[in-house]
Amino acid sequence: MSRERLRLAMQKSGRLAEQSLDLLRSAGLTVNKGANELLYRIDNAPIDVLRVRDDDIPTLVADGVADLGIVGLNVLEEREANARAPREVMRLGFGRCALKLAAPEKASYAGPHALDGVRIATSYPHILARFLDARGVRAEIVHMHGAVEVAPRLGLAQVVCDLVSTGATLEANGLSAVETVMHSE
Ligand code: ATP
Ligand code: ZN
Repeated sequence: MSRERLRLAMQKSGRLAEQSLDLLRSAGLTVNKGANELLYRIDNAPIDVLRVRDDDIPTLVADGVADLGIVGLNVLEEREANARAPREVMRLGFGRCALKLAAPEKASYAGPHALDGVRIATSYPHILARFLDARGVRAEIVHMHGAVEVAPRLGLAQVVCDLVSTGATLEANGLSAVETVMHSE
C-alpha cells in the first residue's frame, strides 16, 4: 500500500488530544483544522492527522489505515494478545498514569494472594489477567467499560483495577491503591 501522505492517528478528544497536537506544533508542523473533523491536514509536511477514539488507534495502525498512532501504553498492552498488535516505536513522555489495584480504604491487603477468589472490576481485563496469572492468583475479573471506581459501592466487585494519575478519583470513592499493575504514558 502506498499513500502520498503519512497518516497519524491520535485521540480526538480526551486526556491525550491536546498534548498530541502540541507535540506536532512543537516539531514545527502547522495543524490546519479545516472543516473535516475526522482529518486535520498538516500544511507544511505531507502528513494527515486522523482523529479517533483512543481505543481504535491500535486497530487502525494494525490494519494499515494509519501509519502511526499516539496512544497510551495501557491501550496498546491491552491488545497485545493479538499478533497484529502494532509495536511501540517511541515514548513521548506525556499522559503519565499507572494501572493500579485499589480496595476500600478499610480493607487489609497482604499481597497479591489476598486477591484469590476476589471479584476485580476493570477496563483492562487482559493486562489484569496476565498480572494475576504471573502470580498464580485466581480472581474473578469483571469487565467494565467505564466508571470502574463505583464497582465496590455497587456491590459489583470488592477491588478495582483502574488508571490513576493523582489518586483523587480513588480517594473520592473511598478507595486506596494497594498495588501497581503497570506504568503508562
Ligand atoms: P476516548 O473517548 O478517546 O475513548 P477515553 O475516555 O478512553 O477516551 P481518556 O480518559 O481521555 O480516554 O484517557 C486517554 C488516556 O490517557 C488513557 O488511556 C491513559 O493512557 C491516559 N491517562 C493519563 N492519566 C489518566 C488518568 N488519570 N485516568 C485515565 N487515563 C489517563
Ligand atoms: Zn477510550
